[in-house]
Amino acid sequence: MEKSKILIIYTGGTIGMIEDPITGALNPFDFDHLQDHIPELNKLDVDLTVVSIEHPIDSSNVSPDTWFQLVTIIGEYYEIFDGFVILHGSDTMAYSASALSFLLEHVNKPIIFTGSQLPIGKIRTDGKENLITAIEIAAAKENGHPIVPEVAIYFEYSLYRGNRTTKVSSENFEAFQSPNYPLLAEAGVHIKYNRFAINKVTEHTFFVRQKICTHVASIRIFPGLQREVFQAISRLPQLKGLIIETFGSGNTPTHAWLSEEIMHLNQREVIVVNVTQCTTGAVSQGKYETGVHLERAGVLSGRDITFEAAILKLMYLLACDELSFEERKIYMERNIRGEMSNN
Ligand code: ASP
Repeated sequence: MEKSKILIIYTGGTIGMIEDPITGALNPFDFDHLQDHIPELNKLDVDLTVVSIEHPIDSSNVSPDTWFQLVTIIGEYYEIFDGFVILHGSDTMAYSASALSFLLEHVNKPIIFTGSQLPIGKIRTDGKENLITAIEIAAAKENGHPIVPEVAIYFEYSLYRGNRTTKVSSENFEAFQSPNYPLLAEAGVHIKYNRFAINKVTEHTFFVRQKICTHVASIRIFPGLQREVFQAISRLPQLKGLIIETFGSGNTPTHAWLSEEIMHLNQREVIVVNVTQCTTGAVSQGKYETGVHLERAGVLSGRDITFEAAILKLMYLLACDELSFEERKIYMERNIRGEMSNN
């Protein structure tokens, strides 16, 4: 059988750093020589190619431009490679994985993000295992089809759906969680794939979107939030989408001013989405009076979506020029890429 061809795309982050033996400072290493730093890669039964984005970055500097660079590379090489591994800082990995899950339509190849908490040059690095297993997952096939044909994150023995993931620790090797969706796979002695949770290969034609709308904002509700503070954001003239981060199952104070402000947003055709501050569970706007007023004012339910996926979905839908305001609202509440559970 032919070896799987995997493209590694390096974007930066801790994983790509090595310690300067003299100063002890962390510097990015030349990824063209990846195999020199991880000789174990030579033992893998895959054909590896490595490319890097133009200027590797700490992922806190990720921007829409980074996502466009990534989807351009993937689009260009989609037919040539069997799978893709994206090396990325962990800080904004969940945002980038969500971004790609929306910008890449009808994905039927593995696109696996990974990174590390310690640089590859450090003796206790988690980067080697993360990279090696991410490559194995990207290369894994059954009956000629990829086992994981979707955008995912591999970190510390767990494979997560990319747009279900959130970073939960800046300290632990287990830095991510997928609080409302099962793991796609667990790596132990063997890699155990949870097939029921993994997308099926699609017959639709893959294509790349290159547009998002950044006229979006979020407001985290807290007891004591003042109308002027809310207005400072909600009255921004260019605003097109707003996420309200609410309590519990989607609740906020029942101030009359809040309903008025939301109705005003609706009149201006700004999409308003309710995302809970809770890590697990879902928004259910009809459950308490403190949620019903939001529904009446026209707020959409984000159900169990993560904040990262919600903001990216909003940016994506707002840039789909073929959709009307009403259609965008329908899609916002509908599961389109596995980012939210069905009702
Ligand atoms: N600040 C780093 C980054 O996100 C942390 C990491 O790589 O995990 O790029």
